[in-house]
Amino acid sequence: MKKIIAVLPGDGIGVEVMPQAIKVLENVARRFGHEFAFNHAYAGGAAFEKFGFHLPEETLTVCKNSDAILFGSVGGPVDQMNLPKWKGCEANSILTLRKTFKFHANYRPVRVFPQLASLSPLRPEIVERGIDMLFLRELLGDCYFGEHTSFNQENGKRAARDVSTYTEDQVSAIAHVAFKAAQKRRKKVTSVDKANVLEASRLWRTVVTEIATQYPDVELEHMLVDNCAMQIVRDPAHFDVVLTTNMFGDILSDAAAVLPGSLGMLASASINDAGFGLYEPPGGSAQDIAGKGIANPIAQILSAALLLRFSFSLETEALTIEAAVERALDDGYRTRDIVRTSGVSQTTRVVGTGEMGQAIIDRIEQVSKNKAPATV
Ligand code: NAD
Repeated sequence: MKKIIAVLPGDGIGVEVMPQAIKVLENVARRFGHEFAFNHAYAGGAAFEKFGFHLPEETLTVCKNSDAILFGSVGGPVDQMNLPKWKGCEANSILTLRKTFKFHANYRPVRVFPQLASLSPLRPEIVERGIDMLFLRELLGDCYFGEHTSFNQENGKRAARDVSTYTEDQVSAIAHVAFKAAQKRRKKVTSVDKANVLEASRLWRTVVTEIATQYPDVELEHMLVDNCAMQIVRDPAHFDVVLTTNMFGDILSDAAAVLPGSLGMLASASINDAGFGLYEPPGGSAQDIAGKGIANPIAQILSAALLLRFSFSLETEALTIEAAVERALDDGYRTRDIVRTSGVSQTTRVVGTGEMGQAIIDRIEQVSKNKAPATV
């Protein structure tokens, strides 16, 4: 298979972890007989420095001429947010890409790796039940894309309004994505809304229930968002696929992101109707550790695996990468963010970004020699 991948490392640790993901993709391409061309482009503060924009036209052209986008992370140090280089950096880059390519579905797998169970902030008996859920967040509706107004009331005091709208087509599109994803997993969808209060949520619930009839093999439950927030912490093993709106998904998936113990272990994908997608770690540019060579490349590498799975339908190759990550963890490789706070055991090897990348590449060879795993 011949494919072009747009590579946008961005800022901070983005430029450190991206080369590891590229090396992994190159290795997989050689091993499985594919040809991947990597077209590099600027985004975020790095783009602003060179072009005066956070997402220049040149970068959009590279993305448009590619089969998928591998994105790093953007943004500057929190105390420099008001400098022109960083102001609006994240919104200008990521929201522009979302709008341009009409990414409507955001996938966020949240899994606590058994090897890292002790890093989870939850009690061991909760983690032991298994935490492996997939958040599917609708990305183009809700108040993020509605009218935003500030105005003065008759009494002269200030007020503001953000309009949240969902259409039947938007809900049905993301519901199909969720049911199809559940069919490949544990066949359960939890649809999260606020149907006891919001009209848009009542439409959401009605449409999801209708779409569910086309997937009789998948169990559907509805849950109110406030209850869901509690259950994610109290009983995360309850969930398989969590289907939700733009705003609820934003908040719930970030709450769930702490469960694996480090942002360095999480991948995400944003995909449009045509299967074109952007793949990125949900964490930011981690300026507190940038330039030190200690960032965890696993989030970027797992995002590359999602790219192979969703945009190129290369399931075996994706599973091979995921299994190689697990083997590196089994063999004790740890970047600093995933070292247990209670101490380093004899089998732990605390490594930097490049060594972790290499450990995973070495294990790709082992995994593919033993044939790719059926599941990981
Ligand atoms: P952050 O996600 O960058 O970092 C939060 C914490 O997680 C930090 O302690 C960081 O060291 C750690 N961390 C994150 N990824 C890691 C990795 N791969 N390996 C090891 N540790 C990792 O959040 P922040 O510090 O609040 O934001 C820094 C900048 O990133 C800001 O400018 C923010 O706007 C931006 N940001 C960008 C994105 C994006 O590009 N999608 C997302 C969130 C934040």
